[in-house]
Amino acid sequence: MKTYVYGFPRLGRNREYKKSIESFWKKEISEQELTAKIFQLEKEVIAKYENNVDKFPVGEMTFYDNMLDTALMLGLYSTETDKTLEKYYDLCWGKNALELSKWFNTNYHYLIPEFPNGFSPSKFKLLWNKPKEAFTRHKKGIPYMIGPFTFLKLSKNLKAKDFGDSLLALGAIYKEIIKDFPEVHIDEPALVMEISPVELSLFKQVYNEIGLFSKINLFTYYDSVDCLKTLYDLPLQAIGLDFVHGKDNLGEIKKYGFPEDKILIAGIVDGRNVLRTNVEYCLTLLKELSQYVKKIEISNAGPLYHLPISVKQEDFPSKLSGKLAFAVEKLEELKNIGRIVEEREPTIKKLEDFKPKIPQDIKKLKEKDFKKAVAFPERIKLQSKVLNLPLFPTTTIGSFPQTPDIRKKRADFRAGKISEDEYKSFIKIKIKELIELQEELGLDVLVHGEFERSDMIEFFAEKLEGITTTKNGWIISYGTRCYRPPIIYDDVKRKAPLTLDEIAFAQSLTTKPVKAILTGPITIVSWSFVRNDIPLSLIAYQISLALQDEIKDLEKAGIKIIQIDEPAFREKTPIKKRDWEEYFDWAIKSFRLSSSLSLPETQIHTHMCYSEFGEILEYIEQMDFDCITIEASRSKGDTLQYFNDINFKRQIGPGVWDVHSPVVPSINDMRQIIEKTLKVLPAELLWINPDCGLKTRGWKEVKASLKNLVALANELRKDEYLLSRDKKY
Ligand code: GLN
Ligand code: ZN
Repeated sequence: MKTYVYGFPRLGRNREYKKSIESFWKKEISEQELTAKIFQLEKEVIAKYENNVDKFPVGEMTFYDNMLDTALMLGLYSTETDKTLEKYYDLCWGKNALELSKWFNTNYHYLIPEFPNGFSPSKFKLLWNKPKEAFTRHKKGIPYMIGPFTFLKLSKNLKAKDFGDSLLALGAIYKEIIKDFPEVHIDEPALVMEISPVELSLFKQVYNEIGLFSKINLFTYYDSVDCLKTLYDLPLQAIGLDFVHGKDNLGEIKKYGFPEDKILIAGIVDGRNVLRTNVEYCLTLLKELSQYVKKIEISNAGPLYHLPISVKQEDFPSKLSGKLAFAVEKLEELKNIGRIVEEREPTIKKLEDFKPKIPQDIKKLKEKDFKKAVAFPERIKLQSKVLNLPLFPTTTIGSFPQTPDIRKKRADFRAGKISEDEYKSFIKIKIKELIELQEELGLDVLVHGEFERSDMIEFFAEKLEGITTTKNGWIISYGTRCYRPPIIYDDVKRKAPLTLDEIAFAQSLTTKPVKAILTGPITIVSWSFVRNDIPLSLIAYQISLALQDEIKDLEKAGIKIIQIDEPAFREKTPIKKRDWEEYFDWAIKSFRLSSSLSLPETQIHTHMCYSEFGEILEYIEQMDFDCITIEASRSKGDTLQYFNDINFKRQIGPGVWDVHSPVVPSINDMRQIIEKTLKVLPAELLWINPDCGLKTRGWKEVKASLKNLVALANELRKDEYLLSRDKKY
């Protein structure tokens, strides 16, 4: 059975990708040197493919992001071919950078191609034949590209009325690109979205055209394809389907069969989880598929770049030995499965499964455990009495600058160069300085600064039982930004307090309330790899129970405000709307469970750093927090309207300072957002805070910006008109 692999990570074993691009930015290496390094990485990936599998794409390598490359190929940004890398990176970061967005339901972010105002479909032009260049370099592999449909679906500022004409115009350009190749690899993951009949008929029209110019291998992944049957009628050589995350794909094939003249590329090795593949299960699936499909090839399900490179160089807990596979190992698994299928009597090394067992504490949960005893209107009265905060309370989202001295101390501590005592005292000095600074600035609700946290997931993962972290398990989040997702492999338990030491210490230094910061269950499961023997919801509930215990301890230490960060709440939303109810049901419950036992006087906050709430706001409301802080500055407060639409009554902090930019916002910049907000929400509900944590900012901007932020609150408090406005509320 033929094997076909795609999406191998471009990062390199030692993050060479990141390092070389960043040294180019720092002008340490030239454009030629960078190009040589990136092409070397490309060569290594191709060699990996070639040595292990039968078919693979060429041209997946990018200097930053493939959606950006597609936009440049199609002439979205200029009429001239300006190929310097400096110009290229201008679109990636700095003041002309394109916006980033989550790539489907993953934690990879792509640059959103934004249509310039006045762009008309007739302006598309082939400015860069990237697949051809890649093919010329290697003379092997199947030229890779993102398809025109996905490109347009994920772009911005394209008028709805222009979608059809644009797609057809792109058809002509894709024809141009593919006509020189006998065979091409086209990714169209947008086909797993719920697409309209109009879009589908346009899709058909385009592929009916371009399919005549080359043999197309069309790939979909991340979910199942509703319009599979329509694809059968198109001139395609092969259709790639995801049988791991596309739960309906098998059923569709059983129902409609599969055309004899086409190849099914069956995605069976999970490209998004690090657990070893269950070979027996794959063989059964392939057997079943072969009853309906004549020509099958096997592949990964979803690109492999969601995985770190290799499990070698890691030491995992013994429970995990032999159970994990990163990208290199997945590739080998696929090769093995391909071989085993051919054997008459296959010898399969049995994979010892985790024993699926629903944890006791989860079994005991009842509906009432997800509910607070006291409802919000009563709670907020009790909280106001305890907290006694002024109108427009000021606060921050949690982290303060993680300067090199902090990272160095942590590295020294991890390397055993300094003792735990020394490290902890160092952190305490930082906390003390920060408390003093916040008092000096006049903030109302203080934080301890999160100096002890490497990142908001890893820190909790290291402290919780049942989760392990990696030394070198990096994956790309966007551009050159990498992170190391932890691995949840067993029942999650809290063996000792997670955050208590630092937060209680911070509170002991001040009479103002210190807000404790925890990472929420949905975000922890979203940004980790998770065991798959029990439902994700149950893993989230276990994390909630651990947080419940943490909250009890924090309350005992006199903490009055607790923020549970859930920046991944929206990202985890399923691609298809029909799956939303099921997701939101457990997501909301897991958040509620973590805070359901908190005292009614304890004010529970949550934080989400984006502003596209629209359709999901009603679900967010059901989380039953007391206050939410959100992103609002890039959208200039426009989206606050949604909160008015649902008659939002809880406390809310629209971020007035875009912390992703080094610019210090003026009092007036920030005031504009609040004034806009005041048109739709009453003053009594509003907090004044930045968009997100200040971890990546410099101290100078932080101090200046917070000074303005507090000044704004003081000004607003004096504005009589705000206080005596109509009695609408
Ligand atoms: N509390 C975190 C911080 O301040 C929140 C980070 C986030 O929302 N991504 O850094
Ligand atoms: Zn945030």
